[in-house]
Amino acid sequence: MYELEKIFHFEAAHSLKHHDGKCQNIHGHSYVLHVVIRSKDLQTSGPKVNMIMDFQDVNNIVKPMIQKYLDHHFLNETLQSDSTTVEFVCKWIFDYLDPLIAGLYAITLYETASAKATYIRH
Ligand SMILES: [Zn+2]
Repeated sequence: MYELEKIFHFEAAHSLKHHDGKCQNIHGHSYVLHVVIRSKDLQTSGPKVNMIMDFQDVNNIVKPMIQKYLDHHFLNETLQSDSTTVEFVCKWIFDYLDPLIAGLYAITLYETASAKATYIRH
């Protein structure tokens, strides 16, 4: 099994409306997004030979999503939830990318350097 991983960064604001602490206030994070793709086989011919997927093609799919919904946005508005936890955003990204990236396996999202969530295909 091969695994490919591409890392992206974005800044965004959010709030957890129902939280019983300071996270209910609007605040921001510098998020780090890991997109993980798995495949049993590599491509056997053409310009992508011996690749799972061209990193540039991953960029071309993920970056427009980041620009439209995530980077410098208020996630509660763009993702239409009043509880945009790191788990929620992780699953939202997985569901968005799943139809676009063959072999998408997992999304890991760091909210801070020491706090992350992962959603894995099951
Ligand atoms: Zn937060």
